[in-house]
Amino acid sequence: RRTPRFRMAVRSSAISVGPLLTKLKHDCATPLPVLRHMADAMAADMRSGLAIDGGSDLKMILSYVDSLPTGNEKGLFYALDLGGTNFRVLRVQLGGKEEGVIATESEQVSIPQDLMFGTSEELFNFIASGLGKFAQREGGKFSMQSGRKREIGFTFSFPVRQTSIDSGILIKWTKGFAVSGTAGRDVVACLNEAMERQGLEMQVSALVNDAVGTLAGARYWDDDVMVAVILGTGTNACYIERMDAIPKLQSHVSSSGRTIINTEWGAFSKGLPLTVFDRDMDAATINPGEQIFEKTISGMYLGEIVRRVLLKMAEEGALFGDSSPEKLSTPFVLRTPDVCAMQQDDSEDLKVVGSILHDLASVESNVSARKIVVEVCDTIVKRGGRLAGAGIVGILQKMEEDSKGLIFGKRTVVAMDGGLYEHYPQYRRYLQDAVTELLGSELSKNVVIEHTKDGSGIGAALLAAANSMYGHDL
Ligand code: BGC
Ligand code: MG
Repeated sequence: RRTPRFRMAVRSSAISVGPLLTKLKHDCATPLPVLRHMADAMAADMRSGLAIDGGSDLKMILSYVDSLPTGNEKGLFYALDLGGTNFRVLRVQLGGKEEGVIATESEQVSIPQDLMFGTSEELFNFIASGLGKFAQREGGKFSMQSGRKREIGFTFSFPVRQTSIDSGILIKWTKGFAVSGTAGRDVVACLNEAMERQGLEMQVSALVNDAVGTLAGARYWDDDVMVAVILGTGTNACYIERMDAIPKLQSHVSSSGRTIINTEWGAFSKGLPLTVFDRDMDAATINPGEQIFEKTISGMYLGEIVRRVLLKMAEEGALFGDSSPEKLSTPFVLRTPDVCAMQQDDSEDLKVVGSILHDLASVESNVSARKIVVEVCDTIVKRGGRLAGAGIVGILQKMEEDSKGLIFGKRTVVAMDGGLYEHYPQYRRYLQDAVTELLGSELSKNVVIEHTKDGSGIGAALLAAANSMYGHDL
């Protein structure tokens, strides 16, 4: 369906894409003052969230994790990880100080699309049955004391108001999930009920967010880990906080005087350089007005922002000449891994870019159009990576202000997990650049961002061990 207006635009292509690209770059710019302002706002929001519940965009959720892994954890434990696009089950045999992690085994199942929009019961049945099948195949190197129930560390990567280490109420779904009947319920009870329906005799000993699991897992290997960040389908960060720096906390006191706070930073919204594409995308999501930081920096959304920009450039600037951009109007046809693949293309005529555009969007492109496409990808990814870096600095800054020298004055590790960080070299570089720019080259030497792949699974198992109903078997 080509309108006369569209045909006119074809002729003036060269004139109209340029200004669109210039405006995009301008709107997405993240110069140092913007980053600094964002980091300060993040630190300030953390304080207001710690002061009272609902005090800021950041929920600053108490994890009820009061003791970090020591290395003494022993026995067979399971972990269950429900995150974004798939769920993972894992078993790990822990051998205490001497033997460490003796063996692990894991399995990953992708979550059928319709379960993301189904009922709570359907989703938890699916999970419990996957767990059941996996548990049945336990053998060989794995063993446990007879008469005991198998215990699970349940990594549930959505905002949960924890009520104890092994219970918590789902506040809301994120990352495109719209399962009915779970919000407002204890997700451990949901899982327990599903396990009962399957006749599965297992018990959840720890309910943890993936960021919290990552921190616990990374800390097992390295005492300098103070912060964990997830950059995958969604995004989040958590860190080690002093109990006396949490005003909203009145009763719960930990023996160590410290705990992990789950910031839920995906909900952050202040001072972000947003464009009309971000606003339109947000309005079309199932959670408009929510998770604005997440929608600007995380894997679920980067491809979609790029798609919206390209569609506009095609419609108003004839970026792809005569080729109809019809297919580009389907939400989420362009995914972040595609954007990443296009940005890795180092062939002279940008072959890969051309074929991805052809395959996904059915458009033909010449080399100059492909170059523009790569620039669009880079603009969106650069903004994402740099803002993520500023968020990390905001957290470190807050911790440093409270501890005077304990963060920047020594080696401090930020444990990082998530497919976006893992697989996107440019994103990683932009993130690191922003951290270095903000802290300066001296201080930033002490801040080590370390990829801990799948740390959250082991972390959840370690926390299940630390909170075992059978106590510590040392
Ligand atoms: C959720 C967080 C989670 C993060 C990374 C966000 O959408 O709100 O709880 O940690 O995604 O998986
Ligand atoms: Mg995950």
